[in-house]
Amino acid sequence: MKNIRQETLAHVKKLLIKVGSAVLTGADGLDLKIIDSLVAEITELVRQGYAVVLVTSGAIASGKNRMGIVGKLKSMPEKQAAAAIGQGRLMRVYSKAFEKNDLCVAQILLTLSDLTDRQRYLNIRNTLSTLMQWGVIPIINENDTVAVDEIKFGDNDNLAAMIANIIEADLFINLTNTAGLHDCNPSESKKARLIPLVRELSEEIEAIATDDTSSVGTGGMKSKVIAAKKVTVSGIPCVIAPGKRKKVLADILAGKEIGTLFLPVADRLNSKKYWIAFTLRPRGRLVIDDGAKKALLEKGKSLLPSGIIDVEGNFALGDPVSCVDAEGITMAKGLVNFSSDEIRKIMGMKTAKISQILGHKDYDEVIHRDNLAITENNPKIRI
Ligand code: GLU
Repeated sequence: MKNIRQETLAHVKKLLIKVGSAVLTGADGLDLKIIDSLVAEITELVRQGYAVVLVTSGAIASGKNRMGIVGKLKSMPEKQAAAAIGQGRLMRVYSKAFEKNDLCVAQILLTLSDLTDRQRYLNIRNTLSTLMQWGVIPIINENDTVAVDEIKFGDNDNLAAMIANIIEADLFINLTNTAGLHDCNPSESKKARLIPLVRELSEEIEAIATDDTSSVGTGGMKSKVIAAKKVTVSGIPCVIAPGKRKKVLADILAGKEIGTLFLPVADRLNSKKYWIAFTLRPRGRLVIDDGAKKALLEKGKSLLPSGIIDVEGNFALGDPVSCVDAEGITMAKGLVNFSSDEIRKIMGMKTAKISQILGHKDYDEVIHRDNLAITENNPKIRI
């Protein structure tokens, strides 16, 4: 009989693999041995029929090493300059290693703003799917050289979680420099025990992980757990595993107990709501009354003009906004069918009055329920 790991991993075909800087870099910059062995492992998986997309860090670490800089880089221009030096080197190493195995690679560099724009998001999805059909390995990193805070993913764990969702991966493998998630910080306590299976990503589990990072990576265990949450809510299992372990990928897929497996939630968030909840940043707020709050939270209804009591910020049709109650607590995030100026004119009114006031009425709802992700009391979105 199969155990829960084997059962969860049995039907995996499409893999998102993320490799952190701490796995890829040694004292002398990029660790070519590790990269070669990971590439050999991935090649073997591709030969067995798996589709693989790789999200890799290592650009900044490699550039920094080339410049002979020791310790963490402090300023943004320094990090961006190091990334500009290192990204080409990183790709050259991957490209050489995959070519040796007769596999072709493609480089994709992204900033968050590439994914918040729906059109660009869909284009990236189509590009990735074409590359996969062609049997090419997409190698993705953040476009560090141009990303400023507002358009940053923050860390590659977050970027990888979003890509896993875009390609509808069957499994997200996050390769790191620890054995997985422990019940307390293993670098602080010898008693730390590995947690092999997380059935439900509760607040307690989230609280275990700390922000500690290595001197080369950006995200600590906390960002890995948040990334695990982001994929498991969209139905994708996640394994956080030791990237330097021999045969790590093959053994994970064989269902061996390696790292921490996070099971996907049963009632998954669809891809559009995931995009609204996790990728978009709200441009304004709609304050809603108790009736609307009930309609949204308990009945799964759309937001109508009659339930809106105030509008904050300036935004256009199609923009993301958050819905808050009179106390300012966020209930939901959604895409508006009217601009902020229009909503100011129709708030509190019956739907039938919209065309009379605005001179047009393309929609009955201010936010349609299909474009609304409920965040209040929704453990799936509580991040
Ligand atoms: N994008 C960065 C790099 O390639 C790494 C970010 C991270 O470690 O999460 O160097």
